[in-house]
Amino acid sequence: MIETINSSQQAILLEDKYGAHNYHPLPVVLCKGEGVFVWDVEGKRYYDSLSAYSAVNQGHCHPRIINAMINQAKELTLTSRAFYNDKLGLAEKYICETFGYQKALFMNSGAEANETAIKLARKWGYTKKGIPDNQAVIVAAKKNFHGRTTAIISASTDTDSRKGFGPFMPGFEIIDYDNVEALATALANPNVCALWIEPIQGEAGVFVPAEGYLKAAEKLCRQHNVLLMMDEIQTGIARTGKMLASDHEDVRADLLILGKALSGGTMPVSCVLADDDIMLVIKPGEHGSTFGGNPLAAAVCIEALQVIKDEKLAENAERLGIVFRERMQALIRKSSLITLVRGKGLLNAIVINDTPESGTAWNLCVEFMKHGLLAKPTHGNIIRLAPPLVITEEQIHECCDIIERCVLNFRK
Ligand code: PLP
Repeated sequence: MIETINSSQQAILLEDKYGAHNYHPLPVVLCKGEGVFVWDVEGKRYYDSLSAYSAVNQGHCHPRIINAMINQAKELTLTSRAFYNDKLGLAEKYICETFGYQKALFMNSGAEANETAIKLARKWGYTKKGIPDNQAVIVAAKKNFHGRTTAIISASTDTDSRKGFGPFMPGFEIIDYDNVEALATALANPNVCALWIEPIQGEAGVFVPAEGYLKAAEKLCRQHNVLLMMDEIQTGIARTGKMLASDHEDVRADLLILGKALSGGTMPVSCVLADDDIMLVIKPGEHGSTFGGNPLAAAVCIEALQVIKDEKLAENAERLGIVFRERMQALIRKSSLITLVRGKGLLNAIVINDTPESGTAWNLCVEFMKHGLLAKPTHGNIIRLAPPLVITEEQIHECCDIIERCVLNFRK
């Protein structure tokens, strides 16, 4: 008989004993999710304020997405791309029309979509821009987060991500984020094929660049014949109050990279979008993935995006993000424990008035947990707050009440 879990402690011990120690989770064991809520194995209910790093924008187990998944799972789940399937073309058309591109390339994880974009940018650099062989450079930003593969961490500036994992892949130049001057200098190098950035740096701690930065980046890319490669894996799909965070500045990426909420958190689905002159530089046999573009993912992706549109989740994120930041600003006036709140839509972070090493933000998250709200620190003293976008105004106030109560009663 297959063993079952009866207590949080049992599950934690099992993971500790048999799982790799590559994460440091909060001590809560979840077994059920619905909308903005998750439940632990003892039956306690929590507000999910992380949304699986913005993968569950549509809310946990959205009935329409789950139905699409079940219906497709009963018909056909995987063919590989050795054959056509009757769902992939529909999903490609749907996603191209939704975001305004000519071609889509589906993958699974966000890291794989970024890897795909790197390959597209390099191949385009050699075949279209005329960069000499093996000399293409991709410009990335300090404090970026694009995933965990060896190629991607070659462009990372985070010590934990890199230490002990070298040697690294060449071909990246790293510049300051949110610095137009640095951008202008870097992009002038004729061997640069792409600029690779996040419109808001999520994992770094929700760093929102100054208004005009993304527009300036777009303009400089055009000027220097460089592809704008935008990683919207965390910021896209309505999270920041628009379908894409780039939409806030009316910026159009040449390579748009999406993941996470493309499936509403039900399975790994990622995608790169581009026009023909870029996407078609990759020929049959040059790139792919067994699971990428599978019919189950295709059916789920269409439904997940349609839910975002039908339920007007971008508009909800925009409106309730303002409510959230106002409540946090008011809290900052009452408590010195929080120094600032920043973000866009429902991708926000509060910064704790202590050092990253102090453990204060972690301890505060443990308090949140005890009071029924789940959030996790990033980089020690920053707490990201990103609930599912189906949250209501009443619920966002309830979340703010929990945060306020914990902050005001917090003793170091
Ligand atoms: N890019 C960004 C901006 C992300 O936030 C993440 C994950 O947090 C990734 C890429 C990596 O996605 P995945 O974990 O699905 O590989």
